[in-house]
Amino acid sequence: MSTSAPRATVFLDRDGVINRRIIDDYVTCREEMVLLAGVPEALRALQAAGYRLAVVTNQRGIAVGRMTRAAVDDVHLYLNSLLAPVGVRLDDIYVCPHDRHEGCGCRKPDPGLLDQANRDQPVDWAASFLVGDSDSDIAAGRARAVTTIKVAGDGDGRADWIVADLPAAVARILA
Ligand SMILES: [Mg+2]
Ligand SMILES: [Zn+2]
Repeated sequence: MSTSAPRATVFLDRDGVINRRIIDDYVTCREEMVLLAGVPEALRALQAAGYRLAVVTNQRGIAVGRMTRAAVDDVHLYLNSLLAPVGVRLDDIYVCPHDRHEGCGCRKPDPGLLDQANRDQPVDWAASFLVGDSDSDIAAGRARAVTTIKVAGDGDGRADWIVADLPAAVARILA
């Protein structure tokens, strides 16, 4: 149980926001983790402004045996190694490893990963954001009343803001 003050947090979906999404498959190894343009610099700007960076990612490929949890953890070590040269370190990475029908509560659109983050370090929900490229991301953010930002997507238009990509989202957060 943390006793620290609530912290403004930017929740980040991973695939399609930070790195290239693989259509109908998963990022299973380092070679498949490819950052999108401008992402390291955008994350650096958020971190410099004092935001906690918390990745929240569904990785159902673990449940269906496409990759192991250890492989996902290794991809995340690699992700941080790609960001390190620009001075960024992701504060937290929360993974839902479950399948759709397990009722885990952490698979987005449920907000369980955000709640995990809040247990580790209290979140100042009103000052926080969620950036995602799917409606399930936006639903998870709405469930905790953070400002929701949809990137590179279509969908049901329920996000508070719709922007082109993560750099554009960050520009608006910091405006
Ligand atoms: Mg995504
Ligand atoms: Zn889960």
